[in-house]
Amino acid sequence: MKLDVDVLRYLSKDDFRVLTSVELGMRNHEIVPTELIDRIARLKHGGTYKVLKNLLKHKLLHHDSSKCLFLLISIIICLKKEQSDHISLDDGFRLTYLGYDFLAIKTMVNKGVFVAVGRQIGVGKESDIFEVAREDGTVLAMKLHRLGRVSFRAVKSKRDYLRHRSSYNWLYLSRLAALKEFAFMKALETHGFPVPNAVEHNRHCVVMSLVQGYPLVQVKQLQNPETVFETIIGLVVRLAEHGLIHCDFNEFNIMIGDDEKITMIDFPQMVSVSHRNAQMYFDRDVECIFKFFRKRFNLSFEESLDDIAGSDEGTDEVGKPCFSAIERSAGFLDRELAASGFTRKDEEDIQRFIEVEAESDANSDSEVDVVEDLNGADSIDCDSSDLLEQNEGYESHRREESCEARESSGSEKED
Ligand code: ADP
Ligand code: MG
Repeated sequence: MKLDVDVLRYLSKDDFRVLTSVELGMRNHEIVPTELIDRIARLKHGGTYKVLKNLLKHKLLHHDSSKCLFLLISIIICLKKEQSDHISLDDGFRLTYLGYDFLAIKTMVNKGVFVAVGRQIGVGKESDIFEVAREDGTVLAMKLHRLGRVSFRAVKSKRDYLRHRSSYNWLYLSRLAALKEFAFMKALETHGFPVPNAVEHNRHCVVMSLVQGYPLVQVKQLQNPETVFETIIGLVVRLAEHGLIHCDFNEFNIMIGDDEKITMIDFPQMVSVSHRNAQMYFDRDVECIFKFFRKRFNLSFEESLDDIAGSDEGTDEVGKPCFSAIERSAGFLDRELAASGFTRKDEEDIQRFIEVEAESDANSDSEVDVVEDLNGADSIDCDSSDLLEQNEGYESHRREESCEARESSGSEKED
């Protein structure tokens, strides 16, 4: 997806007010009714409708008119959607990826984290990475999480299973992924692991130091493959000794500099050594590294593994590190992380999603029902608290309305 940040320059305060109103409305609605957006934004003289059109033009919002066409068949809905540029009170809106990106970027710029967005430097399965520049010219990396991008698309193409929940889940899960990545990166850095410096996070966006180097997968030759291999396996072992498993530790998530210095990246899927599948994840991480070095650098491991972990005790008969030996001495980093603002519920939600996704990758016909259960709210900026009050006022008004409706229908029945 193209991130045209030039548009940011032309967006007014009102544009962001309305965009934030849609975000707030999405706490309780898949598609936020136009009327609610107007109530939250409180712009004078019908200003909200003009702004909505502008946001729509820049693809920051998606317009949905299905509410008023609820009973019609889907083809008619599609045709109607494409033809209509008229916004009625029955319509609704939701944020697009781009709209959510702009909200996060705007917040980062307001906080002085960076002043400019540069070229895209990475496209992961579930993220887009850009260079960003600080005021003093320092270049950092900005990761925009898009958790669910691949799987939701795949699932959606097979059936309309997530029709009413996909955007909401995307927002929620991507925000969780960013929160987790930031918390883990900070903790790992504190404990001396070679990871980027975690600078800031907001919504689905994480800003970190730019790693000077390339993903290992791009490297065809190394001066000291044995040393690099030992360093990497040593890292997996040390992580486990601290109570953690990376779970996606492979040549794509290991960066290597010209000096053959290693940096590990990409942490949203990490788990504690107390996870029920910890042994399997640990073995899989180790196996990935063995396989890659065997194939790419023709390493034979009997000799090179003699030095790893210092003794035979922690390794199996072919020299691979043994999880059970490490687990016994595991440290407390996993528990420390639990106190970082990334809660147990957050971890359970994101882990459920990752596991379901892995299963659905393996078996493309499998159900993805667990995402249906996910509930959560997006974080909001301090300056949007007045908008939040509007939303809550509206919601309690709506709740009262629906209670009254239930009560009156109950009394009608009694009558
Ligand atoms: P995903 O979770 O989508 O796999 P990653 O965190 O692995 O995302 O990043 C994808 C790619 O972006 C990496 O392979 C790397 O090329 C680049 N990248 C990510 N973080 C940084 C960084 N801090 N500095 C430089 N490049 C980075
Ligand atoms: Mg990655």
